[in-house]
Amino acid sequence: MAKIKVLDEHIANQIAAGEVVERPASVVKELLENSVDAGSSRIDVMVEEGGLASIRVLDNGGGIEPDDVETAFYRHATSKIAHGRDLFQITSLGFRGEALPSIAAVAKVEVLTSASDDGRARRIVIEGGRLVAHEDAAAQQGTDFTVRELFYNTPARLKYMKTIQTELGHISDVLYRMALSHPEIAFTLRHNGNVLLQTLGNGDLLQVIAAVYGTSAAKAMLVLEGESLDYRVSGFISKPEWTRSSRSAISTVVNGRFVRSFGLNQALLKAYHTLLPINRYPLTVLRLEMHPSLVDVNVHPAKLEVRFSKEAELYQFVEETVRAALQQQVLIPKAVKREPGSKESKSIIQEQFHFSKDQAVAEPQERAVHAAREDLDAPATILPEHGTSSGYRPAAADEALSAVSRTDERDERTARQGGAGFTGQQSGIREAAASTYKLEVEERRTPYQQEAERKAQQLAAEQALQGAAPEIPRFPELTLIGQHHGTYLIAQNDSGLYLIDQHAAHERINYEYYYGKFGNPAAASQELLLPITLEFTPSDAEKLKSRLHWFEQAGVHLEHFGGQTFRVTSYPYWLPKGEESDVIEEMAEWVLQEKTIDLAKLREASSIMCSCRASIKANQKLTEREASVLLQRLGQCKQPYTCPHGRPIVVSFSTYDLEKLFKRVM
Ligand code: ADP
Ligand code: MG
Repeated sequence: MAKIKVLDEHIANQIAAGEVVERPASVVKELLENSVDAGSSRIDVMVEEGGLASIRVLDNGGGIEPDDVETAFYRHATSKIAHGRDLFQITSLGFRGEALPSIAAVAKVEVLTSASDDGRARRIVIEGGRLVAHEDAAAQQGTDFTVRELFYNTPARLKYMKTIQTELGHISDVLYRMALSHPEIAFTLRHNGNVLLQTLGNGDLLQVIAAVYGTSAAKAMLVLEGESLDYRVSGFISKPEWTRSSRSAISTVVNGRFVRSFGLNQALLKAYHTLLPINRYPLTVLRLEMHPSLVDVNVHPAKLEVRFSKEAELYQFVEETVRAALQQQVLIPKAVKREPGSKESKSIIQEQFHFSKDQAVAEPQERAVHAAREDLDAPATILPEHGTSSGYRPAAADEALSAVSRTDERDERTARQGGAGFTGQQSGIREAAASTYKLEVEERRTPYQQEAERKAQQLAAEQALQGAAPEIPRFPELTLIGQHHGTYLIAQNDSGLYLIDQHAAHERINYEYYYGKFGNPAAASQELLLPITLEFTPSDAEKLKSRLHWFEQAGVHLEHFGGQTFRVTSYPYWLPKGEESDVIEEMAEWVLQEKTIDLAKLREASSIMCSCRASIKANQKLTEREASVLLQRLGQCKQPYTCPHGRPIVVSFSTYDLEKLFKRVM
């Protein structure tokens, strides 16, 4: 006798429900997806008791034709795809035709829907998969979907539901994701009548970010924008000063669908590398657009995960775009936190504008000089012996003329303010009333402002023509005022006051120096007359023997000398003086403990080891020249805002901040 039977539709739906409908939030997600697919511009979600009592989703989308309403509840009934080939070109959020039958199998469902604006509507009620009522009705175009008593007929599932707060948390997450993915749709979420989320639906993603994460988060956002042959990316990423302890604020939206992608997260975090402290994560909303054939969305029951067909290319594109966005910004955190709605925004904008314009002009020469000098400068010492001095000026090229005269002008100006001197001098706070001071600053800037701006634009245009991305160095030109407790440098410019952690600054300078050096370490390898010997435990020695080639990659010739002993016969001459054997030992520890090593990791780890050892420590008095050179070299760094461990280097007080602190302005 045959034992295998095809299950009836009702049981099949209940089984499918187990996969699709895990908890109230899954119902909300499926209903929202349907409303979005229906082209709605406004979607209201109302839930009671964490969604366990009821979930109602009301939209103004295209609605369902009266004759289709019952069909929509059949398994695999969908209006979104018709042929197998459509599966490779999916542009809608839903496509499996599983949600409605699954939900209706485990709850009491009522739908009122109209597909036309003549008021003709249809109402049907289904309970536990059974059709209870269906009738013609009147309603505006759109769909009003209510799900009551979820899991009422599957007590085992109901038992697993957590507290109302937990379920509500999941529902909120679903709404946040949907709202971030679709800023063009106005969403509201109400729980037991209270509004928890409201977005305007005007297409402004920043407004949605503010609604979800708060206004201070929205203010810490940088614009992201990029395009390659296959992909377009847009959205926002947080400045490194705004972090979270989990990855939960990292959002990725692919063709309007919120997805989770380990690979994309990795690419993103790589771009932030060394900018964030350990175990801190940014807030990001990455919106990717690509041809639907480049992404397979049919790989996960809740359609949360996707597969990209040109993965490596996409990850690299994202990493580069994010890195570029981070590099183009002034990344100095504000020492004074601002209250929302204060009138400071003007001064912030001025400040940023001021930096980038200045630097865009001065940069090319600085870079040239920097390159020429590179091999002369031993970074381990910050003494200005190798042809640099605090009086350093960019070389005279065409554009340099304006930069030089501008610098002189500025120095003179700061001198007038009494801030050009080093320790002991008064800082440049003027006696004049704050408002007058501000006015003067404005006036003084104008003469060169337009010229510099014009040059910057011209330069950017030229670079764009040559195909090179216009690099905008952003570090402000600073004049030193003094040193605090042998630890922090104090500096100023027109925009405000800056505190610089001298150790962190030096570490960053050294890190970039060594990183460059480790790019081609073999070139500078020198033989030792007296080899250095190193000892390891037997098991480490065994392991090390198979990893000796990694030392070669770092320019260090390490060989096994018998037993537990190894010896170093050559290393690059630029390793920090007097610290060579310590650095090599530290490298060995690193090589031993890493599971997998690659050249990039090795290069970075070695650079960090060297930079730590070579850097001045806190509590070390610097001479004026040393401090100036330190500042100047920091300004030449590719990324002068955080040390290689992700701690901030510079903190600023804008002039406005100071005026506020001293109540010169209210
Ligand atoms: P899918 O979304 O995968 O097509 P569903 O079971 O979620 O499957 O929905 C079945 C069909 O019901 C959809 O294809 C769509 O035609 C229709 N539908 C569901 N919800 C709505 C809605 N809010 N507005 C318009 N049509 C809807
Ligand atoms: Mg659906």
